[in-house]
Amino acid sequence: MAIKVGLVGYGTIGKRVADAVAMQKDMKLVGVTAHSYSFNTEVAKQKGYKIFTVDGEGDLKLNGVVPDGDINNLIEEADVIVDATPKKVGKENLDKYYKPKKVKAIFQGGEKHEIAGTSFVAQCNYNEAIDKNYVRIVSCNTTGLCRTLHAVDRKYGIMSVYATMIRRGADPWDIHHGPINAIVPVLEMPSHHGPDVQTVLHNIEIFTTALSVPSTLMHLHTVTIDLKKRANVEDVIELFKNSTRIRVVRNAEHLRSTAEIMELARDMGRLRGDMPEICVWQEAIGVISNAYNKLLYMQAIHQESDVIPENIDCIRAMMGFKDGEKSIKMTNETFGIK
Ligand code: NAD
Repeated sequence: MAIKVGLVGYGTIGKRVADAVAMQKDMKLVGVTAHSYSFNTEVAKQKGYKIFTVDGEGDLKLNGVVPDGDINNLIEEADVIVDATPKKVGKENLDKYYKPKKVKAIFQGGEKHEIAGTSFVAQCNYNEAIDKNYVRIVSCNTTGLCRTLHAVDRKYGIMSVYATMIRRGADPWDIHHGPINAIVPVLEMPSHHGPDVQTVLHNIEIFTTALSVPSTLMHLHTVTIDLKKRANVEDVIELFKNSTRIRVVRNAEHLRSTAEIMELARDMGRLRGDMPEICVWQEAIGVISNAYNKLLYMQAIHQESDVIPENIDCIRAMMGFKDGEKSIKMTNETFGIK
């Protein structure tokens, strides 16, 4: 029987998860919440998604939308809720709705690890989410770090990692955030990303710094790793090519920037022009082998989409589907990920 999924918080992440759920053969989208009326509500209606209100009907009826019920009705029909509300709202929803109504719930990276006690990246720790009631999908940056670090750790062993996150200032549709003419460092050491990686890759020693730049397309990470075993560049390229949800991109393809990578996603006909794979530049992979075994690389993260397949695999794990590799394969097929 199909897993019934309810979507609370229909924004950047929520609308993508809703579409992804609707594409899975073993899942059924019960519906989505409309916190207030917007073009998102109109598109949800066009797609035939049921619409459930939160905190009253607001301006929905004024704009001709007749809701199918409220958030309580959505929860009653669902086996699992994916909460993709802004940070801290997930915690409020947990206490107000999910716990009292005893429904399983997935939270996003804006919430703290403690909300669920389990943080998730499918190819790293699928088994930890099996049969759990609450799980948190880590942020887009942490997902990107975890995917490549996990592959490197399994092959070479990691002594320690230093990484800098060059973050997009805002999502493409977002008129409220920035910067538009500055580079803004995160003035805390380490940035929260390092400790967040450890909620998934528990034994990795990692120190991160971060800054924001005037771009909306993707984040870019520079990563430096002290390895336990010596590596060479060709083997690292093969490692990333053979790891799921990682794409090796090349200068020779004229994929020299985040702009060209996003153009590639659009040209490939990806839904919304998304690129859920972590893109590692082949020519930006380097090795220093003298007294140390150091590996350096740069990777790009499409912040709006890399966590979407993670939500899908997490739903299966929480509903008791035991085979993580099979789940990843099923999900990848629906996203067109090779
Ligand atoms: P968003 O602002 O695009 O969407 C949030 C949606 O929730 C909006 O549609 C809003 O109307 C709705 N909402 C607000 N309060 C609500 C409530 N009480 N009940 C129901 N709906 C409510 O936010 P987003 O970027 O999709 O982020 C959602 C979560 O995903 C956050 O935890 C964020 O940290 C995380 N995340 C965001 C990104 C990103 O780059 N955008 C990437 C990875 C993870």
